[in-house]
Amino acid sequence: MAPSRVAIVTGAARGIGAAVAKRLAQDGFAVGVVDLVEDNCKDTVAAIQAAGGTALAVGADVSNAEQVAAGVSRVAEELGAPTVLVNNAGVLRDNLLFKMSEDDWDTVLNVHLRGAFLMSREVQKHQTEQKWGRIVNLSSTSALGNRGQANYSAAKAGMQGFTKTLAIELGKFGVTANAIAPGFIETDMTAATAARVGMDFERFKEGAAAAIPVRRVGQPEDIAACVSYLVSDEAGFVSGQVIYVAGGPQD
Ligand code: NAD
Repeated sequence: MAPSRVAIVTGAARGIGAAVAKRLAQDGFAVGVVDLVEDNCKDTVAAIQAAGGTALAVGADVSNAEQVAAGVSRVAEELGAPTVLVNNAGVLRDNLLFKMSEDDWDTVLNVHLRGAFLMSREVQKHQTEQKWGRIVNLSSTSALGNRGQANYSAAKAGMQGFTKTLAIELGKFGVTANAIAPGFIETDMTAATAARVGMDFERFKEGAAAAIPVRRVGQPEDIAACVSYLVSDEAGFVSGQVIYVAGGPQD
């Protein structure tokens, strides 16, 4: 029996997650669009349906085990067994170490790392049953270290180790796991960073683009295209990798 073509994308109400959800729908997946508030997923779902695709809005906090279990069950019941998981939900709580609160630390580690762990543990049940699956985790160039992001860089480096371990454990079930580490992508997240440092977003993007070898900032669709490849059948021999999608090489 062919594996079910059902994907879950977390943090898909906007930004990179929304672009990934739309791309996977175009690729023929029915998509569970997960974000904190179900209502906020409606735009992504409507765009997918308007283009002839299938999608379901699911409200869940990925760091909450009960909400994760309920959300994944809803997708399985209403769309079919999820075989593709994109762990994209994310938050920033930037601060220099001496000003970073425990809450800043816990929130970021919980959403990125605990969230990816809980979602993956839930979805792998379906993937191993179907003997086919794809997990893509969103890391970041900040995994290599970034001023003001002790919490976020630790979480994004953690995503890389987590990904490699999933690849090792799940490979024999036909499941691959890879990470994408984006550089600067134009979304609400980077707009919020510009606002936090008191810079106009256009100027902020120009400054970032000047330091990127391809001389532009990234768009959510740049990441969606990479996800599309990694979840494809033909990417089945690519596993445990971290792909920097950043307009140039990273250290
Ligand atoms: P964004 O802030 O625009 O979107 C993030 C989404 O995640 C939001 O819709 C938010 O509601 C959702 N979310 C937050 N906490 C959640 C939770 N607990 N449960 C469920 N959903 C939750 O961010 P983005 O720029 O689209 O980033 C997407 C991912 O890519 C993040 O993991 C981010 O760290 C990573 N990333 C972004 C960039 C960039 O330049 N934008 C660079 C590298 C990595």
